[in-house]
Amino acid sequence: MPASSTLSAKLIFPTKEIVEEYYLPIIYTACRTCYSEQVPDQIWDRAVSRAVADEKQQSLVRKVMESGHGSTIEHVNFTFAISGVTRTLSHQLVRHRAGTAFDQQSQRYVSFKQRDNYTIPASIANGDLPDDLAGRFQAAVDENMDLYGQLLQAEVPAEDARFIFPNAMQTNLIMTVNLRQLIHMSGLRLCTMAQWEIRQLFKQIRHEIFRVSPFFGSFLAPKCVPLGYCDEMGNRDEHCRIRPHRDTVMAVWEAYRSGDLAETDGPIVPETSPFRPRKRRVPVDGGEPETMPIAIEAPEAAVGQAGGSDRV
Ligand SMILES: Cc1cc2nc3c(=O)[nH]c(=O)nc-3n(C[C@H](O)[C@H](O)[C@H](O)COP(=O)(O)OP(=O)(O)OC[C@H]3O[C@@H](n4cnc5c(N)ncnc54)[C@H](O)[C@@H]3O)c2cc1C
Repeated sequence: MPASSTLSAKLIFPTKEIVEEYYLPIIYTACRTCYSEQVPDQIWDRAVSRAVADEKQQSLVRKVMESGHGSTIEHVNFTFAISGVTRTLSHQLVRHRAGTAFDQQSQRYVSFKQRDNYTIPASIANGDLPDDLAGRFQAAVDENMDLYGQLLQAEVPAEDARFIFPNAMQTNLIMTVNLRQLIHMSGLRLCTMAQWEIRQLFKQIRHEIFRVSPFFGSFLAPKCVPLGYCDEMGNRDEHCRIRPHRDTVMAVWEAYRSGDLAETDGPIVPETSPFRPRKRRVPVDGGEPETMPIAIEAPEAAVGQAGGSDRV
């Protein structure tokens, strides 16, 4: 039986050394150019030579990103080699249009000789399903693959024989994406409402970015983390508890505005935005002061329930 998932996302360019040396200065130069009388190459020289310290560069970049001036982070790109993902995943991935380039293994020019390059979801492979559903699922896919081989032998072109393939078929891609779009895509695809396979892919992508730059990696999070609330209609019951749902936030706001909630000295909680990780005081009625960590991982229970609300 094929592995339930064999997906892999490897950052092939840039290297850690290139990211460390050049990526922050490029973005810093883009940001600083907006606010400086100096010409950009002067700003660049000071940034890349570290006459301006990394901390100072990061501080400006973070503020500009927080202000939503996203073009500044379109100047750097990341290229990933993605393999062992299904066509189910790739169809979702290539829906992202802005700031991305994709090249994908062709089912016209490649005649698939391997007969086991498909993925069986864990809910089927590891599930305790009645009536041998798991075995029948695999038998059905195997039969399709056999038929595909026979069609090729009968000299049916691969571009036609492939019509028998299921969504479970694996594929390979190269994806190049700029940092702005990578943050946007991660916001959608790390969300617990995203489909499990593409979520796994973006967890690997985030891991790869952290490997070359913890600073840039820290911006890859489910969209609710920078937003401060969840805007997914499928999470109105708040089964995913990374952030409160917008409905809850608005209800609390309405209550506060109409005077039903008093402003008191509340506990110290962290700023919800990773773009501004300073602590601040918020008005909360009662309770002991405590410091809560920013949780960008959902509790496992929430992860397990999330897939049911997927549209794809
Ligand atoms: C959980 C989940 C479920 C989904 N279910 C479905 C589904 O059932 N069916 C389906 O068809 N799709 C579905 N999608 C895909 C979704 O609708 C988007 O097509 C996909 O996420 C691409 O994101 P994007 O629209 O932000 O485009 P991107 O290309 O990633 O664009 C990034 C941003 O650039 C801007 N932009 C890009 N292109 C334009 C443009 N032409 N005009 C104006 N602004 C633009 C927008 O602000 C956009 O948000 C789903 C996505 C998710 C995350």
